[in-house]
Amino acid sequence: MREITSLTNETVKAVRALHMRKEREATGRFLAEGLKFIGEALDQGRVPKTLLVGQDARPHPLLDRARAETTRAGGEVIVVTHAILEKISRRDNPQTVLAVFEQKYTPLDDLTPDSAPCWVALEQVRDPGNLGTIIRTADAAGCGGVILIGDCVDPFSVEAVRATMGSVFAVAISKATPEQFLAWRAKWPGSVIGTRLDATADYRGAEVRRPSLVLMGNEQAGLTDVLAAACDVNVKIPMRGRADSLNLAIATGIMVYAMTDGV
Ligand code: SAM
Repeated sequence: MREITSLTNETVKAVRALHMRKEREATGRFLAEGLKFIGEALDQGRVPKTLLVGQDARPHPLLDRARAETTRAGGEVIVVTHAILEKISRRDNPQTVLAVFEQKYTPLDDLTPDSAPCWVALEQVRDPGNLGTIIRTADAAGCGGVILIGDCVDPFSVEAVRATMGSVFAVAISKATPEQFLAWRAKWPGSVIGTRLDATADYRGAEVRRPSLVLMGNEQAGLTDVLAAACDVNVKIPMRGRADSLNLAIATGIMVYAMTDGV
């Protein structure tokens, strides 16, 4: 097993560069931190390309499995110092195991709508924490996947991946231009439900055919008129106090649990 102690080592630099979107796009890879993430990935058949194990990592059966599967799949297992883990993760208290994975986007036409009761589509989501939280919540509610429409934040950014808590490996992630989405949406077998503050229908009263596809808008601008017009129905979650809207991830959580109620 290779051991790296130099902060200026080329592999360390390459892994660290995965904090930058440009580098993630160029390599098609991303960084995940911690044994929990790596365990989720292995359970989904996703094996690290590179596994970085801290010198102070405690023995754990999952770590043994990760080492064995990485090596068997042709990836590299490298022992690194605590200082390298800190530098790569940009944290004072880094996880003792980091891993580099291949990104995976599922083409829209490969999605299987009937395999889940609910799916989520996000228009121009901009906050990585929101996106990661939505992927985690969609997984928790039993959704099939998350579709990113238009200019969205990168689901494979370190911040977004952290917020998924491992669910980035569990649900399908797709991306599409608005035009591609609208063409694909025409074949959707269930209901397409838009969420808008100016909608008159309450989200609990809407008649919905499964599988439902829930459309959520951008944090500032909301769901555009073009996408709202392509929905079977637009709904609103009641705002009873002084707040004029809910946080995007919270609103998505309410919607996906409502759409999967009774499953
Ligand atoms: N100023 C924006 C607007 O007018 O839509 C607020 C956007 S809100 C912060 C972000 C997204 O969360 C919205 O596009 C919508 O999808 C969802 N959302 C937030 N509060 C909602 C509510 N009360 N009812 C339905 N959707 C809501």
